[in-house]
Amino acid sequence: MASPLPMGPGFVPHMPFSAGDNECEKYFDLFDFGAWERDQASTPKHSRKSSSSSKSSSSSPSSSSSGLSSKSKKRNLQHPEQTAEVRENGACIKCRIRRVRCDLRVCAQCKKFEYLCIHEQLSTIGPVFINIHDKAGERVRRDDLTGRSVHALVTFSETDASAPRMRLTIQAYDPEKGSRPNASNCAIPREHIPTWDSLVQWAGEQILFEDKTPFLKAVETFIMTYSGRGNEGSQLPKFGLVNRVRQLTCMFKIWMTQHSSSGHSNGIYYYRPPKNDTVRLPFAVHEELRHIAKKAMESLERDILSELDACMTQSKAVQPFEKPLLWVCLWQLLFVYRQLLGSNLPHAGSHRCREVTRRLYTALVAYYTGFFHTPKSLNLELDLSRTRMPQDLRHRMAVLFQNILDTRVGFYQVMQGSKNEFDTLISSTIVENELKKLLKRRSRKSKSSRSTKSSDSRDDYDDDDEEDY
Ligand SMILES: [Zn+2]
Ligand SMILES: [Zn+2]
Repeated sequence: MASPLPMGPGFVPHMPFSAGDNECEKYFDLFDFGAWERDQASTPKHSRKSSSSSKSSSSSPSSSSSGLSSKSKKRNLQHPEQTAEVRENGACIKCRIRRVRCDLRVCAQCKKFEYLCIHEQLSTIGPVFINIHDKAGERVRRDDLTGRSVHALVTFSETDASAPRMRLTIQAYDPEKGSRPNASNCAIPREHIPTWDSLVQWAGEQILFEDKTPFLKAVETFIMTYSGRGNEGSQLPKFGLVNRVRQLTCMFKIWMTQHSSSGHSNGIYYYRPPKNDTVRLPFAVHEELRHIAKKAMESLERDILSELDACMTQSKAVQPFEKPLLWVCLWQLLFVYRQLLGSNLPHAGSHRCREVTRRLYTALVAYYTGFFHTPKSLNLELDLSRTRMPQDLRHRMAVLFQNILDTRVGFYQVMQGSKNEFDTLISSTIVENELKKLLKRRSRKSKSSRSTKSSDSRDDYDDDDEEDY
């Protein structure tokens, strides 16, 4: 279970609706995030232990008979008391994942990077979003929305007409003054509050529309495609996790978009067909969208962290065919928190909140290195052969996944050159280790293809001189 942080000055839990406030109660009725979550969630909830992630336990027993997992299972069976002891004593993240004995506060597994020896659960370190003090869009009057309504097409881009748009209804409070929505005279009418789905859809399209680093783009494209087809994919491995990570990423995009008028084209706009122009979304409406996004993020983050914690337990152990999906999700989450840490948002900037975010980010790095530390984990292969995914789509997913792997080196090299402290953290732990091996392989590969026949030597690596970390 997620446990919020202890409170401190300037660190107010986000309780959006004060009791007894009529307007707010109505608002709350409408914003039944629990119901939304149930609607959206195609997989069971984090908090119900018995029901969660039936996929991973029920899916293909054949798969567990190979590779890492069987090795670790055997080890566990040999030392059941030891494993239990490790868990009780609060083994560090890496040891929990690797199922080895965790001895000291800075244990043998973490000697190289002591700060990665973290003994708490991810959900205990986080969550971050619920503790960010941002009351934007909380209190909205809706009863006196009696003026004209406008069906606006909202967009993240002021100038680019090809940017994705979402239909949004805005209504003025006063019929007299309702002709032009402005900062204070309008809101989203109750019956037109956008659904979680429509927001995710719109922001997701925008995310893919924007230019960015190829690796990041490849990760995002994979995540949006894998889980972006509604419940059709709910039987896929780690679908629930990927889907929540997708939704979190999309909501984060909306929440991070500020209503600033400072030079940047950052903002949310709406398109007015009669005039064929694009204007900034009225402040109040913009903040309502951000508020919806924040509430969604709070719930999604809680579920994601709980699920990641569960993956460290023996009963929910990650199967080999689930690993590539976990790997992609971790990168996407690292990107989200990295962006939050890199931002100068006033509400994310409180010292305490940054500390929590930084710790969670560090813990995610530890988590990553717990799972993906062997040379073998550089050869992740997406295996959807046991799923009912149509073959063309399966092929497409394989191509998208390969694209992530192929763009790694370029991204890792950029990270190595970065002076940013959060990039340095990834760089010294994950990147340095992986890049060394990837470059070695690359040079070997090019040598072998130059010198000898037409062999496709993808699996031809000789990794025995490569150390674990
Ligand atoms: Zn340990
Ligand atoms: Zn450790």
